[in-house]
Amino acid sequence: MSNVYPSNPDCIFCKIVAGEIPCHKVYECSNVLAFLDIGPLSEGHVLVIPKGHWETLEAVPAPIVAECAIVCKRVGRAVAKVTGCAGWNLLQNNGAVAGQEVPHVHFHIIPRAEGDGLGYRWNAGALDQDRAGQLRDAIAAAADELADQTAPQEL
Ligand code: AMP
Ligand code: ZN
Repeated sequence: MSNVYPSNPDCIFCKIVAGEIPCHKVYECSNVLAFLDIGPLSEGHVLVIPKGHWETLEAVPAPIVAECAIVCKRVGRAVAKVTGCAGWNLLQNNGAVAGQEVPHVHFHIIPRAEGDGLGYRWNAGALDQDRAGQLRDAIAAAADELADQTAPQEL
């Protein structure tokens, strides 16, 4: 993949990628950058971003999604080694309604410790069995359709 990325001059993460504003970089490869979150939820909180400006995950080309996942694994291991955390959350807020404040795809690596008070449980509902069948069929058909109609690059 060429190193020419879509970029948005108003985007804070694009400015970080361009070196226009500083960051505490912990990892970089051709398409992905990782740096310390400026407002950490815990010590060692890192953001992993594609260098290109894509607002949400579905817009990111599949090979770059894969590269992000590989970097999340590697940096997550490094963060765990350095912080000694017992585990970590991988979080991607996808869309404003899901809590995304910076409209440039990013993955949070958040080190966790017993009793850290961060929490993670949401209020789970109960799966309605009739509705589950309808949903399963509809989503499975939509996923098949996407696989048929979409180039692997865009999946
Ligand atoms: P989200 O709510 O998922 O969009 O998270 C955005 C994250 O970006 C927050 O955790 C912020 O602390 C972080 N953030 C915003 N600006 C910067 C910056 N200049 N450097 C590092 N992290 C930042
Ligand atoms: Zn951007």
